[in-house]
Amino acid sequence: MKSYDDIVRDLKACYDKGARILDIEGVNLIDWKDKDKQVGDIFEAARKIGFYNTSTMVPAKFWQRWKEIDAKVDIIWVSISGEKDLPLIDNDRKASLYMVVNANNYKEIERILDFAKSHKNIDQIAFNFHTPFKGSEEMALSQEQRTSVIELLISSKKKGYPIMNTVSGLKNMLNLNFKRYCWICNFVYCDGRQSPICIDNKDSGMCDKCGFSMAGEMNAVFRFKPDTILTGLKSRG
Ligand code: SF4
Repeated sequence: MKSYDDIVRDLKACYDKGARILDIEGVNLIDWKDKDKQVGDIFEAARKIGFYNTSTMVPAKFWQRWKEIDAKVDIIWVSISGEKDLPLIDNDRKASLYMVVNANNYKEIERILDFAKSHKNIDQIAFNFHTPFKGSEEMALSQEQRTSVIELLISSKKKGYPIMNTVSGLKNMLNLNFKRYCWICNFVYCDGRQSPICIDNKDSGMCDKCGFSMAGEMNAVFRFKPDTILTGLKSRG
């Protein structure tokens, strides 16, 4: 667990480098404490420093606890692993859903999209694709599966389903044949190291097999794709 002072130091370092949007992630974030400080104090410190939009990810199993903590965060992504987590999402507070699509859950997407569309407090749902880190290669989608999932997401988005990913970003993720601009983010690891890439080992080859849709979205922003820029302004502006 990082100390409050160390976190504030990292936040200020990011702000000084130009960051104005903050995303903090960590499975145990909900249990973070330092003396009298709790997780909500981190986001409050971020707002005082000057970040104008904050977000975090909450596993669906912690959603009820998170609501009780009531930390002030602009966008809360409730992470679901598939249909089995949907009963954990109730209708009493606004949330955004997040799902990593993999070889085990990709057939559930249509039902999950119907849930997101019919659930009055779900603002949006964002999708990543499994990145085949060592030991989890078998969960990656085949190219055929990846193509059919992305085509489904694009056609569903055009039909009005509340999908956060943009068409331009999704098209990039089809074959990953695009220039990476991930360095525009300032990634800070738990031990305080800062990095222009989101993964610890730059030689792992994961950037070539990336499933993080932000990579495709950032490329679309740098190519001035209107749908991506408008989506960014709407959700983070
Ligand atoms: S793994 Fe993907 S999102 Fe992360 S730095 Fe590499 S290309 Fe960017």
